[in-house]
Amino acid sequence: MGQLVRDNTTPGLVCAHHHLYSALARGMPAPPRTPGNFLDILELVWWRLDTALDDYTIEWSAKLGALEALERGCTAIVDHHESPNAIEGSLSIIADACAEVGVRTNLAYGVTDRHGADGAARGLAENDRFLSEGGRGMVGLHAAFTCTDDTIAAAAEMATKHGVGVHVHVAEGQADTWQQLQGHTADDWWLVHGVHLPDDHGLSGTIIHNPRSNMNNAVGYSRPARFSNPIGLGTDGIGADMLDEFRVAFVRARENDVTTTPDDVWGWFEPGWALMPEARNDQVSWGYAPMDPWRLAYSPGVSPTTVTVAGEVVLQDGKPTRVDADEIRAKAAEAAQTLFTKLEETP
Ligand SMILES: [Zn+2]
Repeated sequence: MGQLVRDNTTPGLVCAHHHLYSALARGMPAPPRTPGNFLDILELVWWRLDTALDDYTIEWSAKLGALEALERGCTAIVDHHESPNAIEGSLSIIADACAEVGVRTNLAYGVTDRHGADGAARGLAENDRFLSEGGRGMVGLHAAFTCTDDTIAAAAEMATKHGVGVHVHVAEGQADTWQQLQGHTADDWWLVHGVHLPDDHGLSGTIIHNPRSNMNNAVGYSRPARFSNPIGLGTDGIGADMLDEFRVAFVRARENDVTTTPDDVWGWFEPGWALMPEARNDQVSWGYAPMDPWRLAYSPGVSPTTVTVAGEVVLQDGKPTRVDADEIRAKAAEAAQTLFTKLEETP
């Protein structure tokens, strides 16, 4: 990795697990009661929010999320999307919104049987449609514990057909059982969290670590260094400030094992670059030098000045060149209001 960190520049950072649909969630109305555990958080917050999404709010959450990523030097997002009342076409809306801002994406629709067999079938069909039309992505599954064995098998088969992996939440909380995935996984699978996986889980794929989200949901520390799988770094929807997530990942690892080095944790960017190698050629110039993991681990507030994606300057002097940041923020705030109104009407 060291050779890629030159002076004040780095490659484009990759967020290896995001939920762009959560960009409008900040400031949302309080849930009907205070969640007391991980399953409560899903049921009372995220499963109410995703039900309320429509094409309009999906588009503006993606644009705002992409803008915020670019402003933090993140040029590629591996996203996991769910919108049970607006499934068809949702991945294309996200792809177009991010492309407009100048951010690369790898998208998946999180299939689940929470809304019955028809919901699962429509989720599978959206992944199939998007990938068949040349969209960049994986086949998404919400998590094994909300899917039937048939749905898991169908997603695995579809991923093989398209030559991609499956992007799935795994053992995030105690309720999130993972054993149903045994016998299905492959090296190109994207296994998100793995907090409650045993060391000898036997699943193939990259494990994506999201330290801030895991703390926020009080699900525990995955101790990712114990796994033989490659480890990637994501935010699980809490923005796409990957330098910040790196610093959180570092102190969390350090709390568990004081011999962990910043270089060890910087290495967790590698799977994102392996999945989206073009991001390695994107160039981010930062207002700080040298961009050395040992310094960055202890340096808050390092910001990009210029970002070049595929040879095009998409951020100059900290401002996006393709879109108007103020306009996106204003329109996203309007969209958030419509989402909040819907949530207030949701029992
Ligand atoms: Zn997630």
